[in-house]
Amino acid sequence: MPIEIIAVGGYGEVGKNMTAVKVDDEVVIFDMGLHMPNYISITEEEPGEELLSRKSLIDQEAIPNDDLIKDWRKSVKAIIISHAHLDHIGAAPYLASRYNCSIMCTPFTAEVLKLIVKDQKRPLPNKIESKDYDVVYKIGEKISVQFINATHSTPESSMVALHTPYGVVLYTNDFKLDNTPTLGEKTNYDALKKLGDVKLLILDSLYGSFQRKTPSESVAKEMMKDILLGIDHKGKAIVVSTFSSHIARLKSIVECGTKINRKIIFLGRSLYKYCSAAENAGIAYLSKEVEMVKYGKQIKKRIQRILREGKDKYLLVVTGHQGEPKATLSKMADGIVPFRFGPDDRVIFSAPIIPAGINKNHREILEAKLKAFHVRIFRDVHISGHGSREDMHELLELVKPEHLIPAHSEEKVIDATIELAEQLGYKKNQTVHKVLTGQKLIV
Ligand SMILES: [Zn+2]
Repeated sequence: MPIEIIAVGGYGEVGKNMTAVKVDDEVVIFDMGLHMPNYISITEEEPGEELLSRKSLIDQEAIPNDDLIKDWRKSVKAIIISHAHLDHIGAAPYLASRYNCSIMCTPFTAEVLKLIVKDQKRPLPNKIESKDYDVVYKIGEKISVQFINATHSTPESSMVALHTPYGVVLYTNDFKLDNTPTLGEKTNYDALKKLGDVKLLILDSLYGSFQRKTPSESVAKEMMKDILLGIDHKGKAIVVSTFSSHIARLKSIVECGTKINRKIIFLGRSLYKYCSAAENAGIAYLSKEVEMVKYGKQIKKRIQRILREGKDKYLLVVTGHQGEPKATLSKMADGIVPFRFGPDDRVIFSAPIIPAGINKNHREILEAKLKAFHVRIFRDVHISGHGSREDMHELLELVKPEHLIPAHSEEKVIDATIELAEQLGYKKNQTVHKVLTGQKLIV
């Protein structure tokens, strides 16, 4: 029984992703992520300068409980981070120092991790190694890793192949199969086909209940164009909020804003952080096209100038699409940042409402405040970065894994994904496995 998997976090729940795989006596960890709703309910914002205690975060289920693998701790050869989203990378500052090994990821992810660590002012002892796609890196006596380009909603996302003497373990949190991405290349189908004997697939099944193929990011770009270029915005403010890590989306917004002759300003610390990481990794140079304003005091000053010059000369991109009380958009609605919303000003949410109680609540409060100013609200100008059932079906056809574990979703969605696998000939408990956080599987 050569390969053992412990679901440390992110199985039967959405968030705090972490998986440990043991091959004989060598261990690899995939991802160390935050549970965003639980983390935000403690801190009210994304990771900043504060560093909370590891124990309190574990107790409140904001980070994975890695005591589940304490017996394996000394055998860990590498921590592999699949991409730069906080639910995959955000717990590394709290947990990685417990392991005497490097953190490996693609260059953009490495830059984001360095900036997160710098913000928290507690240096990590682990070396952060930035790796290229398609190279097979030896990390132990018997195991090697290979990063494979995958389309998602932040740059340089990866599927990661762990090559072992017993076949490949393929980790695919998170992906979709976007054939017309607006930034970067499409998923490397050739590399996937060439993997050979895939013993186990750990499958991003967030949308395992959706009978569709997730549309391309180029569709989101068209949605944005339709609103920004297709409507006359004369005399009105335009404020857009999206994920700071979604560089492709930010690029689309900038492209549209430039076409309607608005000066574009990014307001908020996390936008600056991810745009800097993209520049450091050589992916996109947004600071050449837009003005970036990071901190509260500078933001207030800049807003005053905008009001003097006329808010219809600008397109503002701000943090706070989930209604986070400390983010720029909420502060604008509250008057803490002295922006005066007027009737028919536009607020475009280029993000979904993340379906957790705290997000729904925050967003409802924010939208009510905006409606009190008679602002026009454009919701859901967004396409997800996660594949749906037909993306999953496609991936299964490509790599033909012997075993399958649905991950990154609620329990009922795992059941739906198992049903899909059964339609494709997998047998429940034999080749498709229901694994929940805290459980172990041997294949
Ligand atoms: Zn992701």
